[in-house]
Amino acid sequence: MKNRKEAEVGGGGHHHGNKGNCKKTLTQMSEYVDDDLKGPGKKSLENHLASCKACMAVLNTLKKTIEIFRVSAPRMTKSMAKEIRRGIKYEIAAIEKKGDDHGT
Ligand SMILES: [Zn+2]
Repeated sequence: MKNRKEAEVGGGGHHHGNKGNCKKTLTQMSEYVDDDLKGPGKKSLENHLASCKACMAVLNTLKKTIEIFRVSAPRMTKSMAKEIRRGIKYEIAAIEKKGDDHGT
């Protein structure tokens, strides 16, 4: 017997209202962990992090990733650091992509 209920589409009951902010935060995240983000941009990012568990979780993951690299490669060259940053951006892009379908 087929009785497949369609998942709610477009309803978006329990989503954050500030999803646009999340996206902005995620794009600036690599700069932030690199300490390249200064001034009001940094401030507003921190404000968002304080109120958004999802972005905070991403930040913690990134920090851990960077720490692992730092520990395993203490004499990190500039190009290695660049590679890591690229990986972080890739990770963020994946998270952004994943953001929409929350199910499965
Ligand atoms: Zn957020």
